[in-house]
Amino acid sequence: MVGRVIGKQVVVIGAGMAGLAAAGALADHFERVIVLERDRLPDQAVPRLGTAQARHLHALLPGGQRALSDLFPHFERDLVEAGSVPLRMSRDIRMEIPGLGPLPSRDFGWFLYCASRPLIELITRRQVGRLTNVTMRPGCRVLEITASPDGTMVTGVVCETADGRQETLTADLVVDASGRAAPTLALLRSSGLPTPDEIAIGIDLHYTTTTFAIPEDAPTDWRGIATHPHAPERNRGGFMLPAEGNRWVLTLSGRLGERPPDEPEGFMDYARGLETQTIYNAIKHAKRESGFERYAFPASVWRRFDRLGEFPRGLLPIGDSLCRFNPVYGQGMSAAAQQARLLKQLLQGRVTKADPLARLAPAFFSESLPLVEAPWNMSAIPDLVYPETRGDRPADFESRLQYNGALLRAAMHDPAVHRLLAEVQQLLKPPSALQDPAVDRLVQLELSQMAAE
Ligand SMILES: Cc1cc2nc3c(=O)[nH]c(=O)nc-3n(C[C@H](O)[C@H](O)[C@H](O)COP(=O)(O)OP(=O)(O)OC[C@H]3O[C@@H](n4cnc5c(N)ncnc54)[C@H](O)[C@@H]3O)c2cc1C
Repeated sequence: MVGRVIGKQVVVIGAGMAGLAAAGALADHFERVIVLERDRLPDQAVPRLGTAQARHLHALLPGGQRALSDLFPHFERDLVEAGSVPLRMSRDIRMEIPGLGPLPSRDFGWFLYCASRPLIELITRRQVGRLTNVTMRPGCRVLEITASPDGTMVTGVVCETADGRQETLTADLVVDASGRAAPTLALLRSSGLPTPDEIAIGIDLHYTTTTFAIPEDAPTDWRGIATHPHAPERNRGGFMLPAEGNRWVLTLSGRLGERPPDEPEGFMDYARGLETQTIYNAIKHAKRESGFERYAFPASVWRRFDRLGEFPRGLLPIGDSLCRFNPVYGQGMSAAAQQARLLKQLLQGRVTKADPLARLAPAFFSESLPLVEAPWNMSAIPDLVYPETRGDRPADFESRLQYNGALLRAAMHDPAVHRLLAEVQQLLKPPSALQDPAVDRLVQLELSQMAAE
């Protein structure tokens, strides 16, 4: 580690997926990494209060899984050993696209590791637990970030410990992975510094989730499924993946006034009312293993820290604190892991600098822009199809929509386009990978057919 160290102590606020991934990125470059988490952290794969979303389906996209494996070499092995279910992309996953039908079952040669969110988090926590210079302090709530009187230089945090004492920790760097950036925004406000613009897309999304024992007569042609609604006329979706313990986690979603019920009869009726009967037929005789959990997600929010000219030295928001994505597209954990991997690369590149922490945050904000922008645009365009969705539509909205429709049609017919589209959607490749003359030719062909229909 000597020679790579650029600071004595770094404090990470929050031991969610962003905070854990960040700890993995920071460990090589600071003498001590302290992760402060307000919750008590269970040693089992069970949900906890601070991450209410953990009771709902969480897909770890291959792009995020790869980033976590880059940060923690044993992540994938440990996730498999803990009972996650590897599904072959996209052979084992039935993607039901309204108006087109299911995308063809094709084997692209990579896996989606399916597990409950508590298990994914537990396995990540164990990776962090192996890093000898990282201390995790559960039951420790950060009350405020401390800074120089003008707010331009962060000095540490004040926290409330598990036994109710207040403690001040000094830090060369504070990473805000608290999910809503509340400590960062409070510091900016109290110091009279500008706060970031927030771009919001009001989707008014509701989730209801339960689990089923996977029955003996489960379908053999798919193992996980996504049934998307025919937008904008319909707004019910269904997403079901296997998880450890031979169960299916099923999340039903509704938007803009549609709320999936949280009682058995209503839930089954709602499942029957999805775009197709595939999920209903799979679960109608299956044994339900848990109660119903609900979650309301009013809006996706992107805080444009990248647009702030100046930012306090020694402070870095990451993960949901930067951007909360519509969960339907399963991007949040993966985007957070990719941001953490980028942070590690940035720190590596600064080791030999005289002042490695100078302007770290602005560099991070600008370099992480593509890692946020790509998943944001992928979900914003289909979300904005609903006229009631609140948010600014880009000037070229209609043509982007047409393009996306044509791309999906091309993916149906052409395995190479399907593969490339899956790589982009699963955050393995940037959207620019689709700017390929061969892909463009096929999309143009579909566009002219669509115009003729
Ligand atoms: C319903 C739902 C479903 C989702 N499904 C998916 C999915 O399928 N795939 C996917 O990749 N992502 C999904 N996500 C997104 C995903 O959960 C997050 O994007 C991801 O976990 C990264 O979050 P985070 O670590 O930045 O924040 P969080 O998960 O919110 O974690 C923040 C942590 O900080 C702690 N904390 C907060 N304040 C303090 C404080 N003051 N002091 C100390 N600790 C504090 C909290 O207790 C918590 O542990 C979903 C989200 C929702 C809401």
